[in-house]
Amino acid sequence: MATGRKFNFSAGPATLPESVLAELREAVWSVDGTGIGLLEHSHRAEWFMRVAADTEAAVRAAFGAGEDWSVTFMQGGASLHFNLLPLNFLPLDAVADYPDTDVWSAKAIREGRALHEAGLCGRVAVPFDGQTSDYDHAPAQTELRCSPQAAYFHYCSNNTVRGTRFATAPRVDAPLFCDVSSEALSRPIDLARHSLIYATAQKNLGAAGLVLVLARRELLARARRDLPSMLSYAAFEKAQSMPNTPHTTGIWLLGRMVRWVLTEGGVAEMERRAAHRAGLLYAEIDRSGGFYHGLSRPDCRSHMNVSFRLPSAELDSHFAREAAAQGMVTLEGHREVGGIRASIYNAFPLAGVQALASFMREFAKSNG
Ligand code: PMP
Repeated sequence: MATGRKFNFSAGPATLPESVLAELREAVWSVDGTGIGLLEHSHRAEWFMRVAADTEAAVRAAFGAGEDWSVTFMQGGASLHFNLLPLNFLPLDAVADYPDTDVWSAKAIREGRALHEAGLCGRVAVPFDGQTSDYDHAPAQTELRCSPQAAYFHYCSNNTVRGTRFATAPRVDAPLFCDVSSEALSRPIDLARHSLIYATAQKNLGAAGLVLVLARRELLARARRDLPSMLSYAAFEKAQSMPNTPHTTGIWLLGRMVRWVLTEGGVAEMERRAAHRAGLLYAEIDRSGGFYHGLSRPDCRSHMNVSFRLPSAELDSHFAREAAAQGMVTLEGHREVGGIRASIYNAFPLAGVQALASFMREFAKSNG
């Protein structure tokens, strides 16, 4: 742990790589020797145009996205896109499938339904209801009851709250849309199977507010045309992410985050490290004889968010408090679910996970 810093297990905004933070600190004062700070450059300046182009190139390299994909930098968090997706791609007489796998997919369903009630888009169907199993897993292929001729199928590949994930992308006939917010660039995603993926940036991609959207150009060509430009994916593509002032700092930071992944060995190396880190914590859960109860079924365990409960809510709080006293902070579970959640994204240091694993062992010994 560098001086003055704690092990921050926050689900997002979250821990960033120390080398990127050091660059950011410099850049705020004067970036790339321009004599102008990162937050002060015009988005129309040549310097920023180059940043946007470099960031796009890095994103294409890291995700393996060719020219048939558009890369856009948008805003509003992933939550705005829970609204924009049905507005753009769900015609009034159509249906879209949304498996309900946790808090964020449930929110996407609620938002789509509200728009439908308001007469603004088609219907949202739920081909899998995870609530009936307390969201302890992502559905197997055989559990999906898909709608015939759905306009699209929307899923969340990694469920940030309970800490479950899809082992592989579902196989469906409809165009596949994925919210990859909490695991972008932590394992490969098969773009060939998808039509659109999006991620809010405050986990593996940098700063809150920015949203990275990768969409097939042929999908955008079929999108609804009569939307205001700030609500239209096609308009953002046409204006190269700048129908208005973009999140300039977030785009710069996204570029640094993606380059950091590439120089550290790429997505395959991120996947290897994540499996190792998460494995250390799941091993403590499994060896605790039930003292720690994992919220995910073992076959669906997330490598980014490790969620578990202790035998009582009092012990959960005691655990989080004691850990904080030892420099391991923000371990409280999501407010809707409680318990403990350790979010360990790409930049999370192995030493912090090792410290938490040994803390878990000691805590179980003294309180079990
Ligand atoms: N989807 C997922 C998977 C998330 O984890 C989150 C945020 N934790 C969101 C969507 C919502 O993102 P935002 O708060 O940026 O709107």
